Amino acid sequence: MKQELRVRFAPSPTGPFHIGGARSALFNWLLARKEGGKLILRIEDTDLERSTRESEENIKASLRWLGIEWDEGIDMGGEYGPYRQTERLDIYRQYTQKLLASGQAYYCYCSEEELDAERQRQMDNGENPHYTGRCRDLSPADRERFIAEGRKPTVRFRVPENQQIVFKDMVRETVSFESNGVGDFVIVKSDGIPVYNYAVVLDDALMKITHVIRAEEHLSNTPRQVLLYQALGLPLPQFGHISLILGKDRTKMSKRHGATSVEQYKNLGYLPEGIVNFLALLGWAPAGEEEIFNQEELIQAFSMERVAKNPAVFDVDKLNYINAHYIKQASPELITELALPHLREAGFIGEELATKQREWLVKVVAELQGYISYAAQITEHIGVFFNDDINFENEEAHEIMKDADIPKVMEAFKTKLTALDPVEPAAVQAILKSITKELKLGGKKVYMPVRIAITGKMHGLELINLIPLIGKERTLARMDCLIAKI
Ligand code: GLU
Repeated sequence: MKQELRVRFAPSPTGPFHIGGARSALFNWLLARKEGGKLILRIEDTDLERSTRESEENIKASLRWLGIEWDEGIDMGGEYGPYRQTERLDIYRQYTQKLLASGQAYYCYCSEEELDAERQRQMDNGENPHYTGRCRDLSPADRERFIAEGRKPTVRFRVPENQQIVFKDMVRETVSFESNGVGDFVIVKSDGIPVYNYAVVLDDALMKITHVIRAEEHLSNTPRQVLLYQALGLPLPQFGHISLILGKDRTKMSKRHGATSVEQYKNLGYLPEGIVNFLALLGWAPAGEEEIFNQEELIQAFSMERVAKNPAVFDVDKLNYINAHYIKQASPELITELALPHLREAGFIGEELATKQREWLVKVVAELQGYISYAAQITEHIGVFFNDDINFENEEAHEIMKDADIPKVMEAFKTKLTALDPVEPAAVQAILKSITKELKLGGKKVYMPVRIAITGKMHGLELINLIPLIGKERTLARMDCLIAKI
């Protein structure tokens, strides 16, 4: 029987949920869904100072918003819990006792100051800083003395000497390293809390994780982890280190490159479908040219074989292009909802929204949604529906309105619009057409001046849709406002 694939996402809840973390979660989720496996969510909160429940909540909410549902772990339970590392300290302790008993680990009583001084000396001598193993073979008397001094020990892993360690990475080639370069490293801090490299190994092994898919940043940690797997006699999972995410300038993604957290994108009115589609392409390449994939299609198409090892570039323009696709497909009600906070902030609407105003807004948004990449951009386009004090956008627009035919066109349109009831796109279209016929003018001589009279601009949204949304009275008032400025 084929072994069930078990992957995990193991974030540290130490701040806003970064887009890179979401990409790791997504790749694991896609693999689990594709292979009919399980995704486990584990919270790695051993950094007690920086870990917060707020951040954990934010990670979970962001994952759920993206549609990345986990099968086991935090909030879900499962056979291998608890799934928060600070609740697993007893488990780690048991294994530490075993390692200490077998001599594969030992207590180290060196103080921070002593270690710093040692490092400094090594650097002054041009050596690579490393732990020299001073506490490796302490005599019972030395140990007694340190204990009597009240020193709190760390636990160090005794790195075996002269070993060539080799592991296969699903994304990279075979990785190999020498154990001699590693140096005995701390696995449990003096406060009894295990370090990441140790806890992660025990958790992945005990939770029966088969594939560890994570960011390339962790590749340098893997040798230590492999040594620990071997010392503990635990089977190695398959590792897959997915590429770094770089900004467009090819430096590591950071705040300088704009929004970096999932929540920021959510608040700007990006859609989860767009973010997921975009993130999937950060390091994974579909077989064909097509770049638009919904979640189901991604699950079908995804494979680790097509995950590249060279850095992925976070191209916001591409994100916007992809998201625009999903914005177009979304309901105007949804986009309106997402745009509301931005419309309020920009002063277009107040806190309260009457039903009529909301209905109107939804229609306006429907008109605009083909022009935006994310909901907040509505504010850049919606002004035409609010501002009745019309001005010429430029001299060219002004010139057009000085044409000898303009007064006739304006009069005809105003008269016909005044008589129109209800004002609907087809009816507006009909009156514009009738004016071209009656005045024997080309379409351009009618449509563009009417548009300029109503918006001040030569180009823009579909005129016949715009007019019903602005309404008869306001349209007529706008025309008078602009005509007075010719
Ligand atoms: N807690 C680690 C992180 O957030 C997880 C690393 C791993 O996946 O092993 O970076």
